[in-house]
Amino acid sequence: MSSSWHNTGTVYLVGAGPGDPDLITVKGTQLLRSCDVVVYDNLVPDELLVGLPSSVERIYVGKMVSDHSLPQDEINRLLVVLASQGKTVVRLKGGDPFVFGRGGEEAQYLAEQGVPFEIVPGVTAGIGGPALAGIPVTDRRYASSVTLLTGHGSDNDKCTSVALEALAAVSGTLVIYMGVAELEQNVARLLESGMSPDTPSAAIERATLPTQRVITAPLGELPSRTREQNLKPPVLFVVGEVVKLREILYPRRMEPLHGLRVMVCRPADQAEWVYRTLRDLGAEVLAYPTIATEAYHDQATWERIGSLSSSKRWLVFTSENGVRYFMHQWREGALDIRGLGEYKIAAVGFGTARALEEFMLRPDFVPTRATTAELAMQMSKKIDLDGATVVRVRGNLGDERIQRALGQAGATVIPAQVYSTVTHIWPAHLKEKLFAHPPDVIMFTSGSTVDGLVANLTPDELVRLTNGSCVVSIGPSTSDVIGKQGITVSLEAATHSIPDLIDALVSHHKANPIWRAG
Ligand code: SAH
Repeated sequence: MSSSWHNTGTVYLVGAGPGDPDLITVKGTQLLRSCDVVVYDNLVPDELLVGLPSSVERIYVGKMVSDHSLPQDEINRLLVVLASQGKTVVRLKGGDPFVFGRGGEEAQYLAEQGVPFEIVPGVTAGIGGPALAGIPVTDRRYASSVTLLTGHGSDNDKCTSVALEALAAVSGTLVIYMGVAELEQNVARLLESGMSPDTPSAAIERATLPTQRVITAPLGELPSRTREQNLKPPVLFVVGEVVKLREILYPRRMEPLHGLRVMVCRPADQAEWVYRTLRDLGAEVLAYPTIATEAYHDQATWERIGSLSSSKRWLVFTSENGVRYFMHQWREGALDIRGLGEYKIAAVGFGTARALEEFMLRPDFVPTRATTAELAMQMSKKIDLDGATVVRVRGNLGDERIQRALGQAGATVIPAQVYSTVTHIWPAHLKEKLFAHPPDVIMFTSGSTVDGLVANLTPDELVRLTNGSCVVSIGPSTSDVIGKQGITVSLEAATHSIPDLIDALVSHHKANPIWRAG
């Protein structure tokens, strides 16, 4: 063993849970938010990663359909290198890190290298998955034990016929972590070992997600039934009398968007409540932000703002980001909240109002229609701006209309850029995942989210993704940008707000179910 290192970071081997992003532990979530780097696999829910602060480095070491994963010894070495740089490392694994996850091997290597590590257990797919499919793996009336087996590749040797014979004789539940390809052979071995072909059994695809599929059949028929349904990974199998309980314990899903796959393109740091709302309605969220925002600090503008003396001052906000980044910089600049009392506030948009509300601010002026053009027009007509100073808070993409209109109405306009919108390019494995399970619904909440999607895809991929899915837009200007790409908008929100858009989606889905065509 090498001597223990000074300033070495700790590696946390964290279980991400079986698929539903809500099933990670509180400790796991806290570590993810506070660590320096996450090293993760392909079974980890994407949503756990997209929303992390940009300061957290993300390293994918999982499998790709077209490629192999990083070999285990390279992963081991990577963990040691990162820790030796003094970083706090989260090694995030699907389910529980010690259940068929090679967590033991990684921990052993860390121990041998003298790197401090800690295990944060997770909900393993083989227990949490059946549970959410209505199968309690050790219900005492039907089973006194549960055995977790793997039927995967090289691990197959562990599943010897002797072991299977012994298992077939116990009235316990078997949970087998394996692919569909290995099913036939393993079922044959179980039958040869004396297990009855009538034993109730189940195959569970994408366990714990709203889009999970469950097939129940007598063991002898499970391989053919699974083939017919063309189940795709990840899949696991449950064999035993407990499977019968599914009929009683699996509740009928009544959520209005149950099982619908909804892709959300807005920046992840503002999307958490959108993800949650959609999930509460039963949808599976595909968290694919196409843009991100970052702070933009313009010292000269802040100095100008700091030296204003005019008694007629306005602040104009047209986005949630504008409010957040402005308030943040106001505070950073050691300005007191009471300084805002010198200003009247004009705002447009539901998100903007909500963000202001968080700072206990209510706008003095809101246009009757929620567009920036209306704001510009109505404000210059209804308000005496002669001699006023207007601070127009904006990002890099904001249009010039407001500045122009208010300037013409006699105001001195200070354009204050406080943030920039940048394109967010997805790592390759996420793109692969998207096309493996494409969305039923694609939600655009701004024109820039559309541009961001276009930047992520080839023209051909754009057609493949959007054809067959229902494209929903927050309002007319976003719909214009979508239309320019030759994409048909299926649904538009009446009042340009996300809650409204989601309501429209629910009503639409109820009247004409929106499942992806093809
Ligand atoms: N450490 C993980 C297991 C990793 S082995 C855990 O504790 O859950 C990977 C295998 O687990 C997959 O091939 C599949 O058989 C099973 N699996 C993982 N997540 C699953 C899911 N959401 N649905 C069905 N099977 C899953």
